[in-house]
Amino acid sequence: MNDAILTWLQRLVQTPSVTPNHAGPKAFTPGEGAMATVVARAFQSLEADEIIYDPVLPKRDNVYGIWYGESPEVLLLDVHMDTVGVEQMTIDPFAGEIRDGRMYGRGAVDTKASLAIALGLLESHIASGKKLPYTIMIAASVDEEEGGFGAAALARWIKQRQWRPLQMIVAEPTECRPVYGHKGLVRQFITVHGEAAHTAQPHLGKNAISAMAQVILALDAEHQRLQQLPATGLGHGTLTVSLIEGGRGLNIVPDACQIGIDRRVIDGEVVDDVAAAIIALVEAASPLPVTVTPATYGDAFYQDPTHPWVQAVADFHHTSATSAPYGTNAYAYGDLADCCVVYGPGSIAQAHTADEWIALSEIDRAADFYRHWWGLHA
Ligand SMILES: [Zn+2]
Repeated sequence: MNDAILTWLQRLVQTPSVTPNHAGPKAFTPGEGAMATVVARAFQSLEADEIIYDPVLPKRDNVYGIWYGESPEVLLLDVHMDTVGVEQMTIDPFAGEIRDGRMYGRGAVDTKASLAIALGLLESHIASGKKLPYTIMIAASVDEEEGGFGAAALARWIKQRQWRPLQMIVAEPTECRPVYGHKGLVRQFITVHGEAAHTAQPHLGKNAISAMAQVILALDAEHQRLQQLPATGLGHGTLTVSLIEGGRGLNIVPDACQIGIDRRVIDGEVVDDVAAAIIALVEAASPLPVTVTPATYGDAFYQDPTHPWVQAVADFHHTSATSAPYGTNAYAYGDLADCCVVYGPGSIAQAHTADEWIALSEIDRAADFYRHWWGLHA
């Protein structure tokens, strides 16, 4: 184990960075502010050629560090600074305790270990006095666990700079397997508008719940239709009615009914088209007026797994590339880099848990890969 990596990881875990919507009394100051300060100071002490604050949300900036190398080709790492909440944790979330070959704490596996590896390796490299072979950019981003606004800002910034990174890693715990794809999503609220009346005379009202029943059946049929389509690289799209609310009392014809839906989007689908198709479908199905409000939209992430670099990452660890059942910042990174994978040490099974931890051996494995990726020599 590289001591510098472990020291950085402990410092990062000891710096609370709970995403604001998850923050309770145990989270200290919500948000990534303290982390951003630690990261910016780290970039400074590691002699970054550029340190950039990219404003994303009020008091929540992405922090970018750039180190120019012999080659202008850019290797880009996106690592999110925020974590999920800590209220239900059974360990001290911010102690950074090392025990039984593991580091415990909120964010240890998701995803501060990847940032610690990057900082630790740069620290060792700078001590060597050599120039980096490639230009390295570390993007410490905000808001991954909530709205994904940090990722959108990073994508915007890279395009404005007119950069096209040669290779990009989105840091998440993948057990050191390159992840080449995951589904995107379209989440919407659908409201059917009826008219209230006394249930003794229901013909005087317009029943929004009964109308919504028609909408739900149409959405379920749409899910079934999606399963009949030929599978793509990411399989099939899905559509789930996941929330429902409506009615005001047992003796009132309901004037409104609202549902929430979660549509998983595959490669080749365009989220705006999918969203528009759902609107058309519910309008056709509902006998009463209906409105659709967008909640979250994110494109599917799909990197051609036959790309040589995807293969190279897999080969390095004697494994194979895989797709992920969960979403990541890579929603925002379609066509941003020549090749992009989600990758990192540790398992998603330990992410968001009550006793989050990462195995130190996993950190070693990923650090070996980063050294190889950046062309550093131990
Ligand atoms: Zn994560």
